[in-house]
Amino acid sequence: MNEMFENRNTVEISELGEFGLIDHLTQGIQYRQTSTILGVGDDAALISSANSEIVKAVSTDQMIENVHFNMMYTPLKHLGYKAAVINFSDICAMNAVPQQLLVSIGLSSRFTLDAIEELYAGIRLACDNYNVDLVGGDTSSSRIGLIITGTAIGEAPKDKVVRRSGAKPGDLICVTGDLGGAYFGLQLLEREKSIFMENPEMQPDLSGHDYIVGRQLKPEARLDIIKAFDKMGIIPSSMIDISDGLASELMHLSKASNVGMTVYEKKLPIDQDTFNMGVEFNIDATTAAMNGGEDYELLFTVQQSDYNKIENDKDITVIGYVTDLSQGNKLITNGEQTVELKAQGWKAF
Ligand code: ADP
Ligand code: MG
Repeated sequence: MNEMFENRNTVEISELGEFGLIDHLTQGIQYRQTSTILGVGDDAALISSANSEIVKAVSTDQMIENVHFNMMYTPLKHLGYKAAVINFSDICAMNAVPQQLLVSIGLSSRFTLDAIEELYAGIRLACDNYNVDLVGGDTSSSRIGLIITGTAIGEAPKDKVVRRSGAKPGDLICVTGDLGGAYFGLQLLEREKSIFMENPEMQPDLSGHDYIVGRQLKPEARLDIIKAFDKMGIIPSSMIDISDGLASELMHLSKASNVGMTVYEKKLPIDQDTFNMGVEFNIDATTAAMNGGEDYELLFTVQQSDYNKIENDKDITVIGYVTDLSQGNKLITNGEQTVELKAQGWKAF
């Protein structure tokens, strides 16, 4: 091996994990620009020009074939839609509204023009639905399969931007929509793939599971909630989108806000189809909600005095409350047991 590329560092990347690696690579970065309001460590970076009352939120997310998606069961139009939407979701997680999108793609030669057009039909549909402009990107060839990198830009009034770091003891912990569906959608697609691989005569049977399969293949960002917050006069004290699973996101809020998080199993919003799939796969629906990920719902905290504003909203569920840091992060189960939350995150390496 060429000496230049010898690995002198004895720590394996897998030991660090995704979040450890990001911390390692970005530790000690000093921001030089006064326009850099918030750098690494939240759902999006925040940028503002001098004296502006408006803050720009910027975020990027990458999807790689056979890591984040499998071409056997992912329609390209859905893939394009998802690649755009997961970026919009990070902008929404700052209580900002997405406005522009850049998309960079790495293509392997097996892709036809038709296929790429499908991918872009999905990206453009997402932009239509979210009122976002596709303003640029980059195109290159790839030898490892399809790579899609989206970068979204959005904005919010300076005094309305929400970070991961503002949760206070006593605040209510809330989630939007329901959880765990995207995980079981993936389990179902993987199962049907295995059956098909063993016996190509067998056609995939996804009937009756439109909801969870849709949750996996065609997620939505909760821009509707961001708009509802504005109407209700709510500014969450902290917020994050649920890409890696509720447990991991609770721990991010806890770490950034220096507080503890207590949530109740019986409060977790779980759809009926998700619950049924849990029984069929013999995987607890609670486990899927806590650790599954890819639901792209919002997890946020609000002051108790805001409770009356959210209590009748069908899309918002209060699942627990914020405590002192010393209380740690825990799930109170239906059997009244206390389970300490563990860092999960997405194991990329
Ligand atoms: P999310 O799940 O919201 O997309 P991530 O967990 O991917 O967030 O990233 C956490 C933070 O680390 C973000 O602020 C992101 O911009 C930053 N980050 C991730 N990867 C890198 C990298 N390779 N270099 C610099 N910053 C990074
Ligand atoms: Mg995020």
